[in-house]
Amino acid sequence: MDYAALVAVYDRLASTQSTTEKTAILAEQLAETPQEDLPMLVRLLRGQVFAAWHSADLGVSSSLASRAVAKATGLSEDDIESDWRETGDLGDAAARAVEKQVQQSLFSDPLTVERVYDTLQSLADLDGAGSESRRVDEVAGLLSDADPDEARYVVRTALGHLRLGIGEGTVRDAIAEAFLDEPDSEAVERALQVTNDAGVVAQTAASEGRDGLDDLELAVHRPVKVMLAEKSDSIADALADAGGGGEETDDAGSDADAPDDGTVSLDAFADDGDADAGAHEGTAPLVEYKVDGFRAQVHATPEETRVFTRRLEDVTHQFPDVVAAVEDAFDADSFVLEGEVLGYDPETERPVPFQQLSRRIKRKYDVEQLAAEVPVVLYAFDLLAVDGETLLEATLSDRVAELEARLEPEDLAVERMPNRTTADADEAAAFYEDALAAGHEGVMVKNPTATYQPGKRVGYMLKVKPTMEPLDLTITRAKWSEGRRSNNLGRLYLGCRDPETDEFRDIGRLSTGFSDEQLADLTERLEDAIVAEDGRAVDLEPREVIEVAYEEIQASPEYDSGYALRFPRFEGFRDDVGLDEVDSLERVERLYEDQ
Ligand code: AMP
Repeated sequence: MDYAALVAVYDRLASTQSTTEKTAILAEQLAETPQEDLPMLVRLLRGQVFAAWHSADLGVSSSLASRAVAKATGLSEDDIESDWRETGDLGDAAARAVEKQVQQSLFSDPLTVERVYDTLQSLADLDGAGSESRRVDEVAGLLSDADPDEARYVVRTALGHLRLGIGEGTVRDAIAEAFLDEPDSEAVERALQVTNDAGVVAQTAASEGRDGLDDLELAVHRPVKVMLAEKSDSIADALADAGGGGEETDDAGSDADAPDDGTVSLDAFADDGDADAGAHEGTAPLVEYKVDGFRAQVHATPEETRVFTRRLEDVTHQFPDVVAAVEDAFDADSFVLEGEVLGYDPETERPVPFQQLSRRIKRKYDVEQLAAEVPVVLYAFDLLAVDGETLLEATLSDRVAELEARLEPEDLAVERMPNRTTADADEAAAFYEDALAAGHEGVMVKNPTATYQPGKRVGYMLKVKPTMEPLDLTITRAKWSEGRRSNNLGRLYLGCRDPETDEFRDIGRLSTGFSDEQLADLTERLEDAIVAEDGRAVDLEPREVIEVAYEEIQASPEYDSGYALRFPRFEGFRDDVGLDEVDSLERVERLYEDQ
């Protein structure tokens, strides 16, 4: 397929703000695409060249892309950068550069979709000395055969930012519309959840329809998005909400009258014979410590164990201690389990702050040495699959019973997350105090009848923590500071996520709460994301996720989210959280209503 044909679709998508129209355009295109090309096309339509579960990094920064544009067009990098800062989009700057290029390539080969896709994919494999300039060459190679419109989208795709406002929901609805006799977004949604790969889902829907979608399952070594937690204001609220009566739970009811109509059957795994396995029977919530580390999804077969973060990044190499401990402790041939990896101080045995643990996540060499300095423990809390059986649709009680029956920690690096099964508010409160006294964040209260819903925040896990819940936000604009800190960016405009479009809306400005060192670090991280500058003001490509505490949320016409944070304070970087997990406008609205 000619890349120009795909660019025409991009242009049509860009020309409408309506999600219904975008869905129709996508559906039409998918229906016309040969089945074997669907995975490639679906990914490119979202501006990606790998499945969502694949954590490959193309390694294309804005400055690398502008070098490639300069190389392909013969214009100077300065010209390109100044155009880019003016327009705020490097894709547009690339299009204009190609238009006025001084260097016409002699043997221009029209671009095909396959060539763009394969070339961009190959960037992820480049490593080591000379890989930067190889990347520049590869991208420049595509650009020298591109017309201005094509150049725009090649650059945006290489940067991972297509700017067409196509969220996951739009792709889901388009697949349903294109391939199912009775469009059923829920069937597509389930398939997306278990595979985490819109390409495979589109292809299966096209070739096998609804039945094929229903047969798709979670696969070991293909990470799924993790189920997310909601916040609860008190232990009593959390116990009432997670009472195990499923959706019928009466919010107003106290723990004493937790409904018993949702009683869980443990039959499926009753024969596994561990004395503890029955501990979670009944409708009482499961209350666990909430510890502040990183969420790990461990995928194991007899040949290989891999560890993924919540952003589905593969960190196996960085955590050989966790791999060895889990392999020893878990009795199964293949499995997918989840837990929280917590770093601790080997002398005091108290948890260390997340920032310390994140050194281990980033470390690529001398891993063993750092492992001794910052030892970790994986606190296991869920089991998603075992020996070829998927447990996503089993209840939490059943999953945990199976986890406990098979987990025999032999080594300090893996343990079952400390827990209690109780509907008793006093007992749960005492357990919460224990968690805080041991240096943890609070507790997680879980509904024992809940199935596992990948990527969802469905109220099956409720976190209870002592402070006003901070928000995870991104930074969309900033200003160079004045005076002593003039080399630094300050006054950060904070963005929350609009789930409809996957774009960010302003929710206030942050100017306080940083040490000089943090501000310098922040400036260094943000400098490369600058897309336009006007005097001291800069526009940024959203990239970093930070945790922001505040006193209150106010309604505000000043920002396009409609809200503003009162007295926001910087609490730290959230390197374990991706842009797609930046707090949504919906959550801000809920917090606003609740305060
Ligand atoms: P938050 O990031 O504040 O929304 O809290 C949710 C995160 O808490 C999860 O993604 C896990 O990384 C972490 N966590 C800590 N303890 C637990 C637990 N017992 N069960 C589930 N998640 C936990």
